[in-house]
Amino acid sequence: MTALPSRPRVIAVSLLAFALFATAWSVRMCAIRRNVPDLSPLARRAVRESPEPLRAVAGAVSVVYAADPRAAAAMIEEADYAVIEISRRLGVAAPTSTVHILLTPGVSTWTTLARAKGFRPDSLALNAGREILLRDDPEQSARPDRLAHELTHFVLRETFGEGIPLWLDEGLAAHVGFAVSRAFRTARGRRMAGAWPGLSTAQMEPLEVLTSRTSLPDDAEEVRLFYRASEELVAWIEDRLGAAGMREFIAETARGALWREALGKRLNTSHFSTVELEEEIRRAVESPKKR
Ligand SMILES: [Zn+2]
Repeated sequence: MTALPSRPRVIAVSLLAFALFATAWSVRMCAIRRNVPDLSPLARRAVRESPEPLRAVAGAVSVVYAADPRAAAAMIEEADYAVIEISRRLGVAAPTSTVHILLTPGVSTWTTLARAKGFRPDSLALNAGREILLRDDPEQSARPDRLAHELTHFVLRETFGEGIPLWLDEGLAAHVGFAVSRAFRTARGRRMAGAWPGLSTAQMEPLEVLTSRTSLPDDAEEVRLFYRASEELVAWIEDRLGAAGMREFIAETARGALWREALGKRLNTSHFSTVELEEEIRRAVESPKKR
């Protein structure tokens, strides 16, 4: 028969186990903190509450925190490329500050964080200041333009502060983000293509309302229409103004000019029909899209 452990022995073993746990915990937290001197409380919470320990990998312009070091390394490579390329395409200086990208595993962690921040839990990313929190799940990771999309928001925010209108911010993130992530893959011999179905515009707001928005609609279908129409409008404007004119348009609008005025004065045509523009964007949203 095995003798029951004596009380002092139980206490000693418990203390030893606690000491070992505390040491391991502080080593882990130190390793994370050494690399993350200035994470926001929300990002620190994401690190703390992650079901798997997150490791930080530093690149030239970004630090990526992920459970899988290979995922972090791949993301660093793309982020370093994307920040430079996005800045070039937007015609702005590349940000000198480091962007912190967290791949947040676990649906429950994500839901908690999204609620804390006032986002819907189904949001694709939390993007604020110099931090981008991405939900680390197979469905989201399959979206190849996700990182470049979020980094476009970062570059715009670093350059223009919070002044850029929501539609232009989202339209550029979709338009430039896709182009940059495709260029990144093409340079590495990988193909990237996308196809989007046409959407019914029955619920689509007039451009005047859509471009005045400071927050996304509540309804999921209206959110889809908002993103798509914003991207189509950005593509339409770039097509008419060309790359150089588009850069001026972005800078002027981000600094507070009314977008219709910034556009109107750059168009070569003598008049600028808002009715025709409205119809063209609706037709573009209704048409299936491939690129
Ligand atoms: Zn976005």
